[in-house]
Amino acid sequence: MNHSTGTLYIVSAPSGAGKTSLVKALIDAQPSIRVSVSHTTRAMRPGEADGVNYHFVDRAEFIRMIEHGDFLEQAEVFGNLYGTSQSTLQQTLDAGHDLILEIDWQGAEQVRRQMPDACSIFILPPTQQALRQRLTNRGQDSDEIIESRMREAVSEMSHYHEYDYLVINDDFAAALEDLKAIFRANRLKQTPQQASHKDLLASLLA
Ligand code: 5GP
Repeated sequence: MNHSTGTLYIVSAPSGAGKTSLVKALIDAQPSIRVSVSHTTRAMRPGEADGVNYHFVDRAEFIRMIEHGDFLEQAEVFGNLYGTSQSTLQQTLDAGHDLILEIDWQGAEQVRRQMPDACSIFILPPTQQALRQRLTNRGQDSDEIIESRMREAVSEMSHYHEYDYLVINDDFAAALEDLKAIFRANRLKQTPQQASHKDLLASLLA
């Protein structure tokens, strides 16, 4: 097989739609897919680790990175800064790995402009009620915070039409199959297939 570069995937969803669990299940099943670790200024949550869930930095460091042009994209979400650093991204793609960016719609917009071949996927909850339930089930937040998260979620979801694919996360296993199907179909597109099967195509046309 000839060398081919990986594809960049953008996965967005409102908080509580199950994006992180779905992406984790996908990479558990297909370990050659990588997930980009973003930088953020938000506080670490219980169970999170620096360098695993995010690179946790303070605002001054984040702003220094913006000024150095370190980010492919960056955005403010819920009052915190988030960004995707350039450095590992191209290396990962050049090594032939597909790479997932779990970012919000603002970041997705910036990435699409710079990397128009990126494939974007939006994950939606089955109902607003289910979303509220999932936000409540986290058990960490007050009603006021949950209501404000609901408003943020509706605002994030209003951008669904900017994405190539929509996955409804009603049944987790079914949503995971949908996600796998997107990756599979995307790998069968002409450009990656051409790169993967250069010798075959040459011999078929000889
Ligand atoms: P959380 O703080 O709950 O992990 O993430 C909050 C929001 O920030 C989510 O919508 C998530 O997709 C988004 N986010 C996480 N990392 C990045 C990033 O690097 N860039 C952008 N634009 N959004 C991000």
